[in-house]
Amino acid sequence: MRLVLLGPPGSGKGTLSGTLTKEFQSVHISTGDIFREHQQNHTEFGRQISYYIDRGHFVPDKIVLNIIGEYLFNRVGKKGFIFDGFPRDIAQAEAFEALLAEMGIALDAVVSLDIPVEVAVQRLVQRRVCPQCKSVYHLTNRPPKKMGVCDFDGCELVHRHDDHEDVIAARIEEYRSKTAPLTNFYKERSLLRSFDGSGEPERISSAVISELRKLVAPAQ
Ligand code: ADP
Repeated sequence: MRLVLLGPPGSGKGTLSGTLTKEFQSVHISTGDIFREHQQNHTEFGRQISYYIDRGHFVPDKIVLNIIGEYLFNRVGKKGFIFDGFPRDIAQAEAFEALLAEMGIALDAVVSLDIPVEVAVQRLVQRRVCPQCKSVYHLTNRPPKKMGVCDFDGCELVHRHDDHEDVIAARIEEYRSKTAPLTNFYKERSLLRSFDGSGEPERISSAVISELRKLVAPAQ
């Protein structure tokens, strides 16, 4: 299964990716996670991209496309994949289409998670993440068993630097102006499958999985 997840910050792409990766044995590629790893390791690349990420702006397409090309050719190859956070604008989507064509492969679907802006902001402000296993918590709706600590590996949870209100507003504006037009881009290619992302994660993932299974079901 070759998928792209679309949706505003806080729509649940990361959580859904975890379930779909297991279900379809695909490689999960989150540009946000890749970038944060560079920031945590204080690489020169991490320093360059921090300028953009910390202000809630997109990392320039040229940098993103270099990384994606490397992942696609060297780590993904012919395997199934789930892209989460890429493509993020029309230029990235067009470049992605060209890369896939060069590799002789195509997307199976683009899953879009739709949520109202107020729900997204509320989720992001209260979001805490495990830097190690990437589990996502919400201080009110899904708190960890022990405050500040990951249930699975005991790591100290972090409040992402870009999950503060001023940066969130900039991220949502970037999404609205640059990423939202991708829904039409993929609708025109008959790849778009839209879901309400405001409910419980388990209900959303089962709705998505049952829709995607239809794509891989043998023809009757
Ligand atoms: P979210 O989807 O919750 O906003 P991500 O973890 O996907 O967060 O991304 C965090 C930040 O990394 C983004 O705000 C942006 O600055 C940068 N980023 C991630 N993916 C891309 C991309 N494909 N193009 C440009 N910038 C990106």
